Amino acid sequence: MQKNILFLFFFFLSLSAKTQNTERPKLVVGIVIDQMRWDYLYRYNRYAQNGGFKRMMGHGYSCENTLISYAPTITACGHASIYSGSVPAINGIVGNTWIDRQTSRYVYCTDDKSVKTVGSTTNAGLMSPANLLTTTICDELKLATNFRSKVIGVALKDRGSIIPAGHSANAAYWYDGATGDWITSSYYMNNLPKWVNDFNAKKLVNKYYEQGWNTLYPINTYTQSSEDSKAYEAKGLGGNTFPYSFKQFVGKNFGAILTTPHGNSLTAEFAKAVVINESLGEDNITDFLTVSFSSTDYIGHSYGPNSIEEEDNFLRLDKELGELFDFLDSKVGKNQYLAFLSADHGALQAPEFLKEHKIPSARLDLNVFDTLNQVLKKQFGRDSIIIDMYNYQIVLNTPIIQAANINLDEIKKTIIQYMFYLPGVARIFDINLLAQIPLNSRIREMLVNGYYPKRCGDIQLILQSQWIEGYSKTGTTHGLWNPYDAHIPLLWYGWGIKPGSTAREISITDIAPTIAALLKIQTPSGAVGKPIPEIIP
Ligand SMILES: [Zn+2]
Repeated sequence: MQKNILFLFFFFLSLSAKTQNTERPKLVVGIVIDQMRWDYLYRYNRYAQNGGFKRMMGHGYSCENTLISYAPTITACGHASIYSGSVPAINGIVGNTWIDRQTSRYVYCTDDKSVKTVGSTTNAGLMSPANLLTTTICDELKLATNFRSKVIGVALKDRGSIIPAGHSANAAYWYDGATGDWITSSYYMNNLPKWVNDFNAKKLVNKYYEQGWNTLYPINTYTQSSEDSKAYEAKGLGGNTFPYSFKQFVGKNFGAILTTPHGNSLTAEFAKAVVINESLGEDNITDFLTVSFSSTDYIGHSYGPNSIEEEDNFLRLDKELGELFDFLDSKVGKNQYLAFLSADHGALQAPEFLKEHKIPSARLDLNVFDTLNQVLKKQFGRDSIIIDMYNYQIVLNTPIIQAANINLDEIKKTIIQYMFYLPGVARIFDINLLAQIPLNSRIREMLVNGYYPKRCGDIQLILQSQWIEGYSKTGTTHGLWNPYDAHIPLLWYGWGIKPGSTAREISITDIAPTIAALLKIQTPSGAVGKPIPEIIP
């Protein structure tokens, strides 16, 4: 009798220990596809059955109507928002670059002059998450497991790797386009692990260059795209038509790989090497791998969404993701890892492409601000009153204005009057008046969510729909409130995820709180999103 009770006691003890271990996945894999619009899940209709997208959509859960809830819709902000569950107004990541209002100096989102590059002799490693003001979901996982979880960030772009992994990550690795190597900074470690040096020694970039780039399928079957050669496509790779030869880049131009699908392959290979060499997902303490695929953005900027280049790039990325899931299935175990996939922002079609099809679209030439500075000089007697326009905000040179004792409101009035009737300008106003001017409530909320005063400008510019700003005459860009920039995919797959989909509106800020709810850990410190009830069992 006593023996039976003892047995039952140990039985329940082992049961409770067991359930504790199975409450969390072994590994969380966060995938961000840079510049992936939601409609790319459907417009490139030749994804493979065993590829990444159909696998996640068929066996996982799709939040079909996920929207970015702030402007500007830009890479650093997107990565920060996905992983912090917050908005630039709170996490402080208001752009890729901003102008610090105290010093009037440009600040890159992951700049950190107090650290050193590890893995190369360039300045590409003077980076850390110091400018991120909140925690990310990865920090919260670390805190929840008393730092026994391993967290590693991977992306070609420094910001796509550093920001997601958060402050307390074991490592973040990114690509140095000057050397062709994966690097990090002394914020994380003083020397690269041996396995990273070994990976770099293979110089895969040269092998990819030897392969060039031709379409995956016969080029005449790319019916979702315009013809191959278009005047508005950039020629940064030496031309803008298939097949591309990259032999001229071998051993020299290591940065060119960014604008090819090989950039995504290199990222996937490195991510797999991280899992193997850092033993991610091997024990029962949940690890977190953040992977961002950046080449989709470089190719989108150069050729636009309707190019064969971008279509082919997504068909290849789909295969790459499929292989990554096959790898994780065998290494970590099917349903032992939780994966999610989203994007930092979308993009507009190339304006010239839209115009070809009678849809109004154009580029606002940023050289207008040189002219405007001349106008201001005439009126107020000072040079360079406008520092720049950044993230659709005009930043005034406050130190000059204050020193010269010029009336700030007069300057703002002059700028607004000058810009108001320019083609493409839909709204221009003093950002301090954001609460008062008549404006669609969604746009207002997005601007409020994007505003962190110490890092933002003085005058807000909103362009007409289908207008973009920039100096470039080719390709496209992103950054405003419109659905083509703000509607992103959100797929969930693996551990604890039941197949399905919802058309309910979900915010980019809901992603991190949902992971927190699934893992039963604290929500990131600045999170404003809510767990998605459809995902939580
Ligand atoms: Zn971009």
